[in-house]
Amino acid sequence: MAPRKLAAGNWKMNGDLAALAEIDAMLEAAAASECEVLLCPPAPLIQAMKARIGEGSIAVGGQDCHASVSGAHTGDVSAMLLRDVGADYVILGHSERRADHGESDADVAAKAVATHEAGLTAIICVGETEAQRDSDETLNVIAAQLAGSLPTGATAANTVIAYEPVWAIGTGRTPTTGQIAEVHALMRDKLRGVIADADDVRLLYGGSVKPGNATEIFAIANVDGALVGGASLKATDFGPIMAAL
Ligand code: PGA
Repeated sequence: MAPRKLAAGNWKMNGDLAALAEIDAMLEAAAASECEVLLCPPAPLIQAMKARIGEGSIAVGGQDCHASVSGAHTGDVSAMLLRDVGADYVILGHSERRADHGESDADVAAKAVATHEAGLTAIICVGETEAQRDSDETLNVIAAQLAGSLPTGATAANTVIAYEPVWAIGTGRTPTTGQIAEVHALMRDKLRGVIADADDVRLLYGGSVKPGNATEIFAIANVDGALVGGASLKATDFGPIMAAL
């Protein structure tokens, strides 16, 4: 059976303990929806968010991890520790990490190995810049990022891929449905060459997903959910996105 579609929220560097009051309404929306729901808050909030969720049906994840289990890496967090405080997922290779911290595809693949060894599911992000799209490099960029970021041992159970065009993140702009379909078809095709159960790998779209465009985006072939930034902070936005999946 194919895994359930995934509504993943990326809180980025937003939220605080008081913002966890939002969880009650999020839980109601999640219970009423058919998809799997995930929230990835800043790492210091993971444990409190998990406690607030209790037995409710929202999973919690990190936004990054180190490739090592422990050691002299000031400021970093290991996948094992994320697991210890209640995470089931880790977002890896988000374009903000690639830009702000110089993360390469090889870095992302190494982090994904650590993620899998910790028993967590990796959400590996890929996406082209506006300049790359304008010069018709999108498909080559996505194929190269995917090939370089995917670790050996990836399966549908431990890996999710998110297509997030850099120019669509936080801008209110989205690709056309045809452009999303083209990239998702390419990703499915490339995965088939390296993962046995590639057809069950969930392929998320991310970048300015809102209640107003979710239904149209989720109707696109090979779109199995969304990675949502700004619209995942409030249940009044994230709830309708869950409902559209
Ligand atoms: P956005 O961010 O939904 O605010 O555009 C998406 C993301 O960066 O994951």
